[in-house]
Amino acid sequence: MRRPFIAGNWKLHKTTAEAVTLVKALEAGLADVTDRDIVVAPVFTVLTSVSSALGDSNIAVAAQNCFPEMQGAYTGEVSPLLLKDAGCRYVIVGHSERRQLFGETDGFINRKLKAVVDTGLTAIFCVGETLEEREQGRTFEVLEKQLRGGLENLLRDAMARVVVAYEPVWAIGTGKTASAAQAQQAHAFIRDLLSRLYDADLACRIRIVYGGSVKPDNVDGLLSQQDIDGALVGGASLKAEDFIRIVRFL
Ligand code: PGA
Repeated sequence: MRRPFIAGNWKLHKTTAEAVTLVKALEAGLADVTDRDIVVAPVFTVLTSVSSALGDSNIAVAAQNCFPEMQGAYTGEVSPLLLKDAGCRYVIVGHSERRQLFGETDGFINRKLKAVVDTGLTAIFCVGETLEEREQGRTFEVLEKQLRGGLENLLRDAMARVVVAYEPVWAIGTGKTASAAQAQQAHAFIRDLLSRLYDADLACRIRIVYGGSVKPDNVDGLLSQQDIDGALVGGASLKAEDFIRIVRFL
C-alpha cells in the first residue's frame, strides 16, 4: 500500500549537457512506469535545465540541500522557495556527507526540514549510523537521536511531506551494502519509533527507503523486505541503464 519511492542522488557530478542527456535517457526508459515515484537530485546549477527537460514527465526533481531561511543576507545559500521556483518537488536533508563534511547538526537539519515542508516541498530526510557506532552496538540509539532531533516539533500533518532514508554511513559509496536483513531491522526500528513519536497510522503510511551501495544486482533483495519502501541511490544513479533497472526493481 506504500507507493515505492526511488531517488537518484547525483552528488557533485554532471554538467548541464550531461545532466540533460541523462534525464532524457531516463525519461525514455521509464515512460511506462506509473506505480512508483521516481526522483533525480542534480546539483543546484543544473536544476532549472533538468526541470525544463523533464517537463511534466513521471520523473520529479530534488535538490541535494537547502538553507532554512527563505531570503536575506545569507551569502552563498539557496532557500526552499528558490528550489521550488527552479522546479524542485523534493529536497534531500541531513545526508551523512553534509553531517560529516559540513558539520550539520540535528538542530540545523530540523530547521531545514521545517523550511522544506513549510514551502510545500517534500523532504528526503537521511539518517544512519557510522561503522564505529554499529560496532559499538549503538545503531538504534544513533537512529533515535537523529530522528528525534531532526523531527522535533514537526507536526503530524507535515509528516505527509517527509520520506525517511536509512543510509548506514559505512555502506555509502563503499560497495558494502547492508544485508537485506540488517536493513529491514533498521527500517522496522524506525517505523516503530515513528509510531511512538506520532501514531501507528502515520508509521504505517510513511515511506522509509534504503540507501548505501544500492545496485541493479542487490535492489530486488533489499526492496523485497517488508519495511523497505524504496531506495536512495548514489553511484548507480549516474548511469541511465543502472538507474532504470533499479527503478524497475522486481
Ligand atoms: P551510494 O550513495 O549509492 O553511492 O552508496 C548513496 C547516497 O549517498 O545517497
